[in-house]
Amino acid sequence: MTQTPPIPQGSALWPIDVTTSSNPTPSARRAEVLADPGFAKFPTDHMVHATWTADAGWHGAELIPYGPLVFDPTANFLHYGQAIFEGLKAYRYADGSIKTFRPFRNATRFANSARRLAMAELPEELFVASIEALVRADNEWVPSDAEKSLYLRPFMLGTELGLGVRPSARYDYYLIAAPAGAYFPQGIKPVSVWLSDDYVRAAAGGTGEAKCAGNYAASLIAQAEAAQHGCDQVVWLDAVERRWVEEMGGMNLYFVYGSGDSARLVTPKLTGSLLPGITRDSLLTVAEDLGIRAEEGSISVEDWRDGCASGEITEVFACGTAAVITPVGTVKSRNLGSWEISGGATGEVTMRLRGALLDIQTGQVPDRHNWLHTIC
Ligand SMILES: *Cc1c(COP(=O)(O)O)cnc(C)c1O
Repeated sequence: MTQTPPIPQGSALWPIDVTTSSNPTPSARRAEVLADPGFAKFPTDHMVHATWTADAGWHGAELIPYGPLVFDPTANFLHYGQAIFEGLKAYRYADGSIKTFRPFRNATRFANSARRLAMAELPEELFVASIEALVRADNEWVPSDAEKSLYLRPFMLGTELGLGVRPSARYDYYLIAAPAGAYFPQGIKPVSVWLSDDYVRAAAGGTGEAKCAGNYAASLIAQAEAAQHGCDQVVWLDAVERRWVEEMGGMNLYFVYGSGDSARLVTPKLTGSLLPGITRDSLLTVAEDLGIRAEEGSISVEDWRDGCASGEITEVFACGTAAVITPVGTVKSRNLGSWEISGGATGEVTMRLRGALLDIQTGQVPDRHNWLHTIC
């Protein structure tokens, strides 16, 4: 029998002090969670923490047992919302190895989000090191079944004490993780969407490009309004004309024009108010690999309605790390009425792209673009 080498601790990218839990989850309980994880409901046994102060910069990176955080009531983020996050997944491969998908992209976006909120930027090496350290310590929490993964949630908070309104002089970074099954447990069933014209997610010059907590707080009322209209998700339009399609909930959108060999993809261009999704970016390349033309453009709500009526637009789907690709089947709106896309069914191009991206993420095909980062 071949001896499997022990999994290293910490990370070679950045020194991280490792203190493992003296009271880890019993393996029978962990097996129960892995069998039916829901979407990231049960955190693993550890977390990573690091601190930034003006004099010391980033320091004290540590892996510690998962547990509650305690903050002084005057901590900046509790009042003024200096809070950003990321989301990515680790997958277990057939050979037992564990990898993540394009983690340096998330690291760059995390730094961009920090800059927009006047927060200290976390070095990309520390971001990826924290992922390596946590996944190595909690490697037994990475599911092996297809369509399951370990969801990773990095986040950073402004934690200086005092109620003055200014950029915090202290930041705390954390990474937690939880096993994840399918984001939409009903399976890949097309969603219905509500075109939001009362509420906007983001305006040029605002925080739409940043993955900050406040964007989500501002979006919840529109999601509730969509639900009142019997829709699963909200679709965001541009803030000025309330006409140009931007995103769906916390996901980017793609429109499929034509079919078969003449199929062509268009995704709303990054105008400054859209979140630059890594799934969105990856699909531009995956489409090209499949010989499908893909471009960034502008799609108005009228284009969407008329394109579906004429048959020019054949499929629409949303994409993001959590749910990968979700087809959009029905659109409802106040001013333009309701309509269906591909008869409310899941389209062929949507499924091909989803399969091709998942094949890369789960190691079924060679990683030609060097997107996978091996952790252990
Ligand atoms: C995170 C997010 C996305 C998707 O980004 P991915 O990197 O593909 O996961 C899209 N829109 C919003 C608003 C988001 O917060």
